[in-house]
Parts: sequence; structure tokens; C-alpha cells
Amino acid sequence: EQGLEGAVDSDTELLPRPPVVTIMGHVDHGKTSLLDALRKTDVAAREAGGITQHIGAYQVTIPGGQKITFIDTPGHAAFTAMRARGASVTDMVVLVVAADDGVMPQTIEAIHHAKAAGVPLIVAVNKIDKPGVNLDRVRQELLQHEVIVESLGGDTQEIQVSATKGMNLDKLQEAILLQAEVLDLRANPERGAEGTVIESKLDKGRGPVATVLVQKGTLRQGDMVVAGAEWGRVRAMLDDKGRQMKEAGPSLPVEILGLSGVPTAGEPLTFVEDEGKAREISEYRQRRNRDKQAAAAGAARGTLSDMMARIAAGVQKEVAVVVKADVQGSAEALGVTLNKLSRDEVKVRVLHSAVGQITESDIQLAKASNAVVVAFNVRATGQAREMANRDGVEIRYYSIIYEVSDDIEAMVRGKLAPIQREKFLGYAQILEVFEVKRLGNIAGCRITEGVVKRGCGVRLLRDGVVIHQGELATLRRFKDDVKEVTNGYECGMSFANYDAIKVGDQIECYETETVAAV
Ligand code: GDP
Repeated sequence: EQGLEGAVDSDTELLPRPPVVTIMGHVDHGKTSLLDALRKTDVAAREAGGITQHIGAYQVTIPGGQKITFIDTPGHAAFTAMRARGASVTDMVVLVVAADDGVMPQTIEAIHHAKAAGVPLIVAVNKIDKPGVNLDRVRQELLQHEVIVESLGGDTQEIQVSATKGMNLDKLQEAILLQAEVLDLRANPERGAEGTVIESKLDKGRGPVATVLVQKGTLRQGDMVVAGAEWGRVRAMLDDKGRQMKEAGPSLPVEILGLSGVPTAGEPLTFVEDEGKAREISEYRQRRNRDKQAAAAGAARGTLSDMMARIAAGVQKEVAVVVKADVQGSAEALGVTLNKLSRDEVKVRVLHSAVGQITESDIQLAKASNAVVVAFNVRATGQAREMANRDGVEIRYYSIIYEVSDDIEAMVRGKLAPIQREKFLGYAQILEVFEVKRLGNIAGCRITEGVVKRGCGVRLLRDGVVIHQGELATLRRFKDDVKEVTNGYECGMSFANYDAIKVGDQIECYETETVAAV
């Protein structure tokens, strides 16, 4: 867009740059402790008189003089959220696994998110100071998720650490630097800066503040930049130790002041020559953002049919899928079924498969990897559903395994069989259950979101799991049949051929429309 793509650097201009590392792992396995411990190894911080300020990333200089940058927003959600906006800031992931706890659901999620991004992993087995830890068990569990550590013949480095006791932090840093060497990380410092916003805020005193990771070139105080849809001259620049900086080279995170507004994390920052150009780009992007929002409604379908068109044209070679199911058995069965659908021309790639509701993290992963979300007897959280709509991520709901395989197989062929696409209508909550002779059970409900229409499709949810799917038989207000009931109102509902309702059940209402094959 608008000539913003930076110049291509020739090999001779590319100089080694420090690695950028994100730490991921299950909650309580020690991500924060490890980030803190690593920060304390910084010799430069000692010279600067300690750590005075905290931004969303920091760089340590280790005793040998080498530098490592850590992104201090632990968790795969932030990592994948950035990737979903097209930003790739991380060169490698340090996967923290607590030795006493082993591989847990978020460990697996992190593995999948890192793999989907094509970013190498280093395993940090943490809490080895605890008595009676079983390292073999941890290794075997990792193996089951295709992370094969060196002692088992794989090429994933494994370092045993204790974040709280400060054990083997130097070994972890060596492992990171070794991985960096393998990756041959380089950038040209002698050019206008390009980077990514990793966090931003509006500060009462200082105005818009953005933490930026410089990735190419050198950012200088006084530079004119565009960051996302904002622009401005870099008025001041601080490093993670709170030191005023005149310039920042590749892999250095800095906080910058002087932007016209607050850019979004994950958006690019680019040096531009003059103010006119900066304004022009910023205006263009603001217009584009507004257009995007306006187009969001139809986005999901557009994305899917685009994908079908690419597959049919032989350009896309992969159907990526994120699977969420109600029980482990279904998740596994779906994984096996989907993998079997791979053909020579087009592969099916299951990026992540797990039990539970669809969350924002799933949507981000799907967005970042152009994946379809397969929901098997589970629903999306409200926020995830909104995010999917906004970002054009397709969630497909199923309750029968062969329907999933039929559908995905059609995608692999670059065709989508005509499907019953559903349109979300609303949610109701069962407040009371009345037994009525001959009619069966009537649910006394309140509509809690959207609208419910006569004869619409319904799903009964108990604790986020679908226990029944069918149709609405009656919809009444004060004994009168009505066409629809909107949010906030109470009504009576009964379900076709279904009676086993309970107070507290949630009812999801939807309409279906048939969408032609692509
Ligand atoms: P996070 O949720 O992954 O960020 O985990 P935290 O860093 O908050 O750590 C969770 C808990 O584990 C805290 O009580 C830490 O003190 C403890 N912890 C972290 N690292 C170690 C370690 O190396 N050894 C021991 N014994 N405890 C640790």
C-alpha cells in the first residue's frame, strides 16, 4: 500500500540482530517468575541503576555482551493476537513447563500456537528445585504433542531451570543464542525504521504512548513515522530501563511519544520521509479501517469462499482447522477423521484440538492461520462470536462426525456443498419450568440477547455444552402466540419433541438459510 513496503536489503547490509523471545506456558508454571528472573540478569540494568520502568518488552545484555529481547506479555493470546494482525515479532518461543505439573492444557495450546506460527520452541522445565520431580514424564508428555527434546533424539532444546532460585538462567540464555544462530537473524540497521507496536495507551500527562519493537533499520528521535492509522514525529523515546534514547536499532523495544493517537498492538510502525506523506497514509488507513468495520458483517462468508476459490484454482494447498469439542473422545476422533482427509494436492491441517467452548484465543489462532473453526457440540463465548464476526473467521457447528468429514472433504476439493448456514438470533435463559397437560413442559424464559422468532432453530445449552438441538414449537407472551420476542422480555417456549429442560438452561436461537455451493 502506498509505497510503504520498505526497500529490500541486500545481504551485505544485513547485520546480526538480537533474538526476540516470547515466553509461553500453562498458568502458574512460572512465566512471570522466569521473565522477572531473566530481567535481573541484565548487566546493563545494573549500570543504569536498576530497573526503573516497565514496558511490554525488555532487552537484557548478558555478561558475554550478547543481547536478548523478551516480549513481556506472557501467554499465547497476546502472541497470536499480534499474529492475527499480520505482525510476526517473535523469533522463538520459550515454553515453560513446571516439572511437578507436566504438560497441561495451556501448554498444549501454546505448542499449537507456536507451531501454527512456524516459530521454533525451546523447552524450559521449571521448578526443578522442587523435590521428586520426574523429568522423564515431562519429556514423554511433550513427545505426545510432537515436541521431541534432544535427549529423546529430537531437535528441541530442553533446559532445566528454577525461576525462583535463579538456577540455569545462563544455560537458558545460551540455548536462546544458539537457536538464534541457527535462525541466522539479521537486519539492516542503516535505513529508516520498521517495527511493530506491541502495546499502547493514552497517558494523561504524555498523550499517546506506544511501545514499539524496532525490527529493521534505526528509529531516531525526531523521525516522522506512521504507526497503524496514526502518525507523528517521535518526540521522545525511552528504553525499558527508562533511559532517554536518541536512536533504537533492530530488536530493541522502545516507548515512543508524539503520535497523533493510540495505535493498536500488532500494527506496523514505519519511518516516512515527510509529514504530508505521513498524513496521507494515516488518512488512508483510517478510511480503510472504517470500511473494514462496515464490511465486517459479510466477512466470514467472503473469507471462506475466497479460500474455496484459491483451492479450486490450485493456489491454496491446505485447509487449516481448529477443533473444539464437548468431550476428549470426540476431539480425538475428529482429529483422526480430519487427518485422513488430506490428499496429495491439499492437506488438512489440524492446528489445535481441545475440549471446551470456543474462546477468543481459538478465533485469534484461526484468524492468524486462515483456519476454519469446527465446533462439535460446543458453542462460542459471546466475545469469541463477536470477534469471529468482526474478523471474518468461520465457525462451523456440528453434532455429527460424518457431517464434519463431508464438509471438510468438500473444502479439500475446493467446493463447498450447499450448506445450511445459520444466523444467530439470540439467547434466552430458562427461569421456570411449567408442566402443562398434553403440551408437555413449557419453559418460562427471559431473552438475554438479541431476539427469538417463532419456529426458529434452538440449541439447549447446559454449562456451555449442547444437550439438545431442534426447533421451537411454541412461542408465547401472556398466552398469545407471538412472532418474536426481543431482549429483556419474558416469554414461554416449548420445544418440538423435547421435554427434558431445566431451570438455568440457556437457549440459543438461530435461523438457517441455504447457501449455494461455492
Ligand atoms: P505464571 O502464571 O506462569 O506467570 O506463573 P508465576 O510466575 O506467577 O508462578 C506461579 C507460582 O509458582 C508462584 O507462586 C511462583 O513463586 C512459583 N514458582 C515459579 N517458578 C518457580 C520455581 O522455579 N520453583 C518453585 N519452587 N516455584 C516457582
